[in-house]
Amino acid sequence: MGRLSGKRALVTAAGQGIGRASALAMAEEGAEVFATDVDAKALAEIAGQGIETFVLDVRDEASVADGVIRAAPDVLFNCAGFVHHGSVLEAKDEEWEFAFELNVRSMMRTIQAALPGMLERGGGSIINMSSAASSVIGAPNRFIYGTTKAAVIGLTKSVAVDFIDKGIRCNCICPGTVESPSWHDRVKALGEQVGSYEEALRQFVARQPMGRVAKAEEIAALVVYLASDESAFTTGQPHIIDGGWSG
Ligand code: NAD
Repeated sequence: MGRLSGKRALVTAAGQGIGRASALAMAEEGAEVFATDVDAKALAEIAGQGIETFVLDVRDEASVADGVIRAAPDVLFNCAGFVHHGSVLEAKDEEWEFAFELNVRSMMRTIQAALPGMLERGGGSIINMSSAASSVIGAPNRFIYGTTKAAVIGLTKSVAVDFIDKGIRCNCICPGTVESPSWHDRVKALGEQVGSYEEALRQFVARQPMGRVAKAEEIAALVVYLASDESAFTTGQPHIIDGGWSG
């Protein structure tokens, strides 16, 4: 018996990175996992062995509604999110709107779709992806990103308090820098500004006091804990997992 046996878990942005690692880890612990993403090709690589995959765009209300009907989740892991680069002086309205749509409003949409079923079934665990770059810590050139991820903490606390006596828990995760495909793209992009990929890598690693960035599997272990009944007394919290960055 795994720690998540008998639970149905819906994961957004499960095609790569933390979402993928979490889908795999939850399946390993016995959950019936519904791994979703906009990237069907990436999903195909993890289908099978307790994981059903289908395309779900968190920006599309009909797509979310269909996905929630199919998964009927006890666990909802809202992982989808996008990193905008730049300070307040570079921020454009359309970038702000895109980031809030993908990083925050999508969570309102999936929770609105999934929560009624959780309430009917008597409980559920909602896990939202925030970041250490939020209200936890100011990270350089993360103005729009950090603002959206701070909003995720507020959203999480609000959902937690409104349904605390209905068996619903809602927590969020605040990772430091995590190795993932999009992180590699960000290192490459910074490398073009600072002269080399190696220098960009050095700068990313330098802000992590442990001298390394996290593996996606290390974040997935926290997702498993928050999905499981082991965390039954935990709700409304930002769970910081940042290698001591904000410590
Ligand atoms: P990633 O950025 O490499 O992958 C993101 C995935 O999201 C892709 O598979 C992509 O296809 C999918 N996606 C994009 N738009 C989507 C949409 N509309 N609907 C559904 N899926 C969509 O993965 P990552 O770096 O592990 O990041 C995952 C989450 O973790 C994000 O919310 C990110 O902000 C957060 N996070 C990442 C880090 C990090 O350093 N990597 C740190 C803290 C928080």
